[in-house]
Parts: sequence; C-alpha cells; structure tokens
Amino acid sequence: MRINVIGGGPAGLYFALLMRRSGVAREAVVYERNPPGATFGWGVVFSGRTLRNLREADEVSHRRITESFETWDNVDVLLRDSKISIRGNDFSGIARLKLLNILQERCAEVGVDLRFNTKVEGIDALARDCDLLVAADGVNSVVRERYAEDFRPVLTAGRNKYIWYGTRRLFHGLTLTFREAAGGVFAAHSYKFSEGLSTFIVECDEQTWRRAGLDRMSDAEARAYLGRVFAQDLAGEELLSNNSRWINFLLVKNERWSRGNVVLLGDALHTAHFSIGSGTKLAIEDSIALFRHFAAGEEVPAALAAFERERRPVVEEYQRAAHESRVWFERAAEHVLMEPLPFAYSLMTRSTRVDLESLRRRDPAFIAAYEEAASRAARD
Ligand SMILES: Cc1cc2nc3c(=O)[nH]c(=O)nc-3n(C[C@H](O)[C@H](O)[C@H](O)COP(=O)(O)OP(=O)(O)OC[C@H]3O[C@@H](n4cnc5c(N)ncnc54)[C@H](O)[C@@H]3O)c2cc1C
Repeated sequence: MRINVIGGGPAGLYFALLMRRSGVAREAVVYERNPPGATFGWGVVFSGRTLRNLREADEVSHRRITESFETWDNVDVLLRDSKISIRGNDFSGIARLKLLNILQERCAEVGVDLRFNTKVEGIDALARDCDLLVAADGVNSVVRERYAEDFRPVLTAGRNKYIWYGTRRLFHGLTLTFREAAGGVFAAHSYKFSEGLSTFIVECDEQTWRRAGLDRMSDAEARAYLGRVFAQDLAGEELLSNNSRWINFLLVKNERWSRGNVVLLGDALHTAHFSIGSGTKLAIEDSIALFRHFAAGEEVPAALAAFERERRPVVEEYQRAAHESRVWFERAAEHVLMEPLPFAYSLMTRSTRVDLESLRRRDPAFIAAYEEAASRAARD
C-alpha cells in the first residue's frame, strides 16, 4: 500500500510508524506544515491502560516514551486554604515535544518519509496519489472542511475560556486549584511533565474573563494577572507562554468518518475536553485500531468501515464523560460553595466514570473522611 498522511501530530506519526514498521505500507509519507522542533502547548498525560496499548503496538517507542515519563498516583484538589489528596490514580506526563520527537525518530528508523515545513493545500491530488489518505491534521482539519458534505462535521464551542501555560513550579501529581477573583472562579489544571516543568492550564467563564480585563490584556499582562490570582500556588514562579492564547474548547464530532479512500483520525475526527486528559490517548488508539484492520489484510473500504464500527462507541463514551467533566468546570462557581471534602468528591466523580466504590478501592482513607463529613453534615 502507499499511504499519505496529513499532519505529523501523535495520530499521524503513530499510524505511519505502525504501517511502515509492519511492511503493510510499502510507502508512507507524512506531510507536516511545521518544522520538527515546533509544537504548541507543554505536557500531555497518559493513563496506565494507554501505556499497555502502546507497549503491545510498538515496544521500542513505548520504552523511549516511558523513559521520559513523570508518573504519579495523586490528584490534589485545592479549594480556598484546604488541600485534599486522592491517591491510587495511575497517570504519567510527558512533554508534547518530547513525545513528538520520539515518534519522529522512530518513523525515520522504519522508513517513513517525513516531509516537514510542507503545508498541504491540494488535498484532492494527494488523495488520488495513494491507496489511503489519512487526515490527521488536528482540531481545525482542512481535510474535514474540504469534504464537509461527506463527513458532516458537528462543531460545538465550550463556554469557558482557557489557556495552556507552563511553569517551573513543580506540581507533583495532577493538581486542580480553584481561586476566586474578579467576582468569579479561576481553575488551574497542573502537573509536572519533565524534571523542570509543569503544565498549567487556566480556565474561567467568559464573564469573569471580561471582568478581569483579560480580553484586553497583552500576553505578559495576562500572565502577570494570573500569577497574582495563583500567587500562593506558583510560589514565586512565573507562568510561561508558548504561543499561548485564550480559546474556547471546540467539540468535534463527525457523522461519517471516511469518504472513498480518505479517513479522519485523532482530533480531526473527534475531540474530548482536556479536563479528562484523553486527546493524545484517543489519537494514538485510533491509529492502533486502524492499523490492525489493515494488518489483518482488509481492503481499504472494509478496513475503514470496520475501524468506524469498532471505535465509534469507544469515542462516544469518552466524549460523553468529557462533556460531563467540561460542564462541571463551567459550573465551578456553584461547586466552590461546597465544603472541601464534598467538593473534592464531586470533582472526582464528575464524569461518572469513577464512582464511590472505585474511589474507595483507590483511596479508602479519602472515602472514609468524605463519608464521615457527610454523616456529620446530616446530623447537624
Ligand atoms: C489545553 C489542552 C490541553 C491538552 N491536554 C492533554 C492531555 O493532558 N492529554 C492528552 O492526551 N491530550 C491533551 N490535549 C489534546 C491533545 O493535544 C490532542 O488531542 C492531540 O494532540 C491530538 O493529536 P492529533 O495528532 O490528532 O492532532 P495534533 O496534535 O493537533 O496534530 C495535527 C498536526 O497536523 C498539522 N497540520 C495541520 N494542518 C496541516 C496542513 N494543512 N498541512 C500539513 N500539516 C498540517 C499540525 O501542524 C499538527 O502538527 C490537550 C489539548 C489542549 C488544547
């Protein structure tokens, strides 16, 4: 097979790697508009289960990725002056750039033709020139736009504004911090992803954002303002920008996942709110699933149909959980009125994928304290 891939993010690189390494693709070309060292954002997280899938799919890149990992088992919830730690979770963080560099290197080793600094515009010609065209060109996919009549995308913007920063302050564990300012609530999602850096994503509702004047501030002013809002948490470390800008989360769904020999993959196909940290995982698991159908010898139309049948229910379940999680953060101003323990419990169970019993297994002490606080509140 000859495959063309548009987009050298996790989805495109991982798919090309598996197709070439196995010899299923005789030729695999990845077109990436940016140079190899460029990326947006800071770190990304993976769960333990995702890592097992990566090990089965390609042991070499799995080893290189896990060597660069920061791992933790605690979620720390900071509300007002209280900090509650919930143990027993299984996460790892890695710099997005490091992950891409590992996949780029591995692609080069197995003979993928990586063409950086190449922005694709002639999509029709590229589709004609191969057996399979993979559109792994991210949340604002031009391929999805070009064939919108076939894919029938449904795009919905979230209500909150958010921005993706980094910081040298090291947050050991996934740390969710809530601070009140400008008459509203600012939430920070932070975690260490390398020896010296943490991701620090800030979100708030649009009214709070405007009242704070963030709509009119320069990048430096916004970082200084949020540095003051989260002064206690950042302990003197500044927020770092990397083309960081305020956006609204964009939920992407598609009625059809492929047309002819063109298939959408990763964020081009679907997004899930960053508060459940699954975007990269879903992108890579898409690649593994699609590859397996080709490795089983299926022809292009059958493989694309089987890929959609297999992955659609999984993706829809993540999107449902991510939706619950997003809405929880959009209503943070109501939730912060709770006491810290019920607040932490509500936060941990927001997506409904985690319930009382699974939390009890992860961290019995947390659930004992939560139940004791609940029965005390019922008595009073
Ligand atoms: C604030 C924030 C936090 C996140 N946190 C996490 C997290 O903790 N964990 C997690 O798993 N995920 C996280 N994600 C999501 C994650 O970044 C994406 O889900 C993931 O990168 C999707 O991979 P992809 O390969 O589909 O797309 P992308 O990584 O977006 O890659 C698409 C690539 O296509 C290229 N491209 C686009 N158009 C063209 C063109 N015309 N020609 C050539 N190249 C093109 C782009 O340059 C880009 O390199 C987060 C996202 C955001 C916004």
